[in-house]
Amino acid sequence: MATRVKPYAESAASYIPERPTLEKVRTASKGCKACWLWTLGTQTVFGEGPPRADVMFVGEQPGDSEDKAGRPFVGPAGKLLDRALDEAGIDRETVYVTNAVKHFKWERTERSTRRIHKKPNDAEIRACRPWLDSEIALVRPRVIVTLGATASQALLGKQFRVTKDRGKPIASPLAEAIFATVHPSSVLRAPDPAARARAEKELIADLTKVARHLQAQARQPGQRGPRTTTTRTERRAPKTPRERAGSRELPMAARGRRGG
Ligand code: SF4
Repeated sequence: MATRVKPYAESAASYIPERPTLEKVRTASKGCKACWLWTLGTQTVFGEGPPRADVMFVGEQPGDSEDKAGRPFVGPAGKLLDRALDEAGIDRETVYVTNAVKHFKWERTERSTRRIHKKPNDAEIRACRPWLDSEIALVRPRVIVTLGATASQALLGKQFRVTKDRGKPIASPLAEAIFATVHPSSVLRAPDPAARARAEKELIADLTKVARHLQAQARQPGQRGPRTTTTRTERRAPKTPRERAGSRELPMAARGRRGG
């Protein structure tokens, strides 16, 4: 019989390894038990994508498909995101995708045998934040795109409203700009085909603004690394050995977070 663990949420900070690199952090995240969600999810679903991606997409948490596959955005919402990125002219292969919370939180209702998504609470989002902070500090994306209210409020504050300020570049110490838009799963939940088509079009419009921002704000000499986000109209450059290596150290400020 499965052991029931009482809900608790501490901080994942003590799990961040010394001299972290993306690979070391990814490996360490697999053993995280900083909150009780590890008892619900099948596995930790860490972010993935080029280690020097210009754009990082942050969703809420892995869904049922992601929980089983151990990879973010591979289910129906991920497929819709793929299509929207393609329409917006952003190559999915060149962006980093992750979530604010790395384990799938779900419940089973009496009427259903399916695992039903349950929104993570503030304490769980806080507990998991060191993993997201590490990803941001190590990838150092130029632009972060938050998908849905949970990720948007985690990075932009509880007062932030996606409905009011979606698709605008927002200044942040975390990146050149943060853009917020809806989570693709909300498009899938639209009540009818017309509403769904409208919601998808609005998502594509927001992502098109991200693509335009990246093209307009050319990387300045001395900025870190080559741009890795390409558009449909650009040929993808071969990966450099450094890109393939996929490991960089955290800056001093980020290293100081450990042990909190
Ligand atoms: S949800 Fe985050 S903090 Fe909680 S156990 Fe999973 S990885 Fe750790």
